[in-house]
Amino acid sequence: MKTRLRTAMVFALLGAVGAVSAAAPPPPADAAAFARCLAGIRGDAARQGIPGEAFDRLTADLQPDMSVLPLLDAQPEFTTPLWDYLAGLVDEQRVTDGRAMLAEHRDLLARVAAQHGVDAETVVAVWGVESDYGRISGKRPLRVSLATLACNGRRQPFFRGEFLALLKLLHAGDLRDPGLTGSWAGAFGHTQFMPSTYARIAVDFDGDGRRDLVDSIPDALASTAHYLARAGWRTGQPWGYEVRLPAGFAIAQAGRTNRRPVSDWAARGIVRVDGGALPAGDTRAAVIAPTGATGPAFLVLRNYDAIYSYNAAESYALAIALLADRLRGGTGLVAAWPTDDPGLSRAQRRELQTLLVARGHDIGEVDGMIGTATRRAIQAEQRRLGLSPDDGRAGRRILDALQAGR
Ligand code: CA
Repeated sequence: MKTRLRTAMVFALLGAVGAVSAAAPPPPADAAAFARCLAGIRGDAARQGIPGEAFDRLTADLQPDMSVLPLLDAQPEFTTPLWDYLAGLVDEQRVTDGRAMLAEHRDLLARVAAQHGVDAETVVAVWGVESDYGRISGKRPLRVSLATLACNGRRQPFFRGEFLALLKLLHAGDLRDPGLTGSWAGAFGHTQFMPSTYARIAVDFDGDGRRDLVDSIPDALASTAHYLARAGWRTGQPWGYEVRLPAGFAIAQAGRTNRRPVSDWAARGIVRVDGGALPAGDTRAAVIAPTGATGPAFLVLRNYDAIYSYNAAESYALAIALLADRLRGGTGLVAAWPTDDPGLSRAQRRELQTLLVARGHDIGEVDGMIGTATRRAIQAEQRRLGLSPDDGRAGRRILDALQAGR
């Protein structure tokens, strides 16, 4: 699950996956080859405990959807800076919604923390980043996408395993709706687990005997905590802190895998921006400075790695860590990102889109998702206004210009 595919869903949440090059059209479907492929998987399924009759029932209606194949090879057409991702993922709306979820599910989260050792704010932050608290979990029929990718394209063995894992979950009754949907790559439900991760990690927390990460919030939140616990979560420890780097700090020492005792970092002049104490000296930690010596820097502990394993990308791990801090009442980062064109919240993205529509651009629905059409419209406005670079980026500079009626 720790692949680019895993983060595809989060990209979709951000509206960034719309901005992929439409280079290759999908290849034509070959019905006979697909049927042969399924027949081959049927044998594997039987060996893994799915009787032929059940396999046939779960696959009889399947037709390949070749439109998922170009997504497998898509490269982002526009690069999105870290501060844009964080502006969308840790915006006021997600903080407000997250605090509401903490209140609504207080008792449940306390039981989850007691059993799995992960605090409520971290669990809710993962939920908020992964699926916007269950609001967005993908619209593609999972069986269709995974069967197609199991039989076509360059990662067939991987997707064959995921397809079989999904069929097992359906056959076992954990999942009941064969029409369930998810991301094109197979992540689904409140937690956006891939089927194999689901099979390994999901837990039944509401006691109905089924592990249901689609319709059961107790199962989903407990499974998120279980995932982090299995990834080495240390109860009661923070993920890390925003820190100030001393003048002349050798930035090459930064990086998540360069672990040193905290006392070693302290001796090099690392201090917390809030003036608080660093943890005991022999705790191992790394310094990360995602935008180099001039942006925010962080001292990260073991729990940051646990969060990182959920997302396998620095930007998403930071989003979860920083959202969790906000949910605890924190006020956000002290240091500024090194840009004069900060990122936009989702509300600001919708406002920008509304202004683009008012200027006659056809960008589709005003939904806060920055897809190719929105980027093209921004690019056209950047050129009209003589803004440089004309990169199609949805940032404060273009929003300010359009708000000012330019
Ligand atoms: Ca359950």
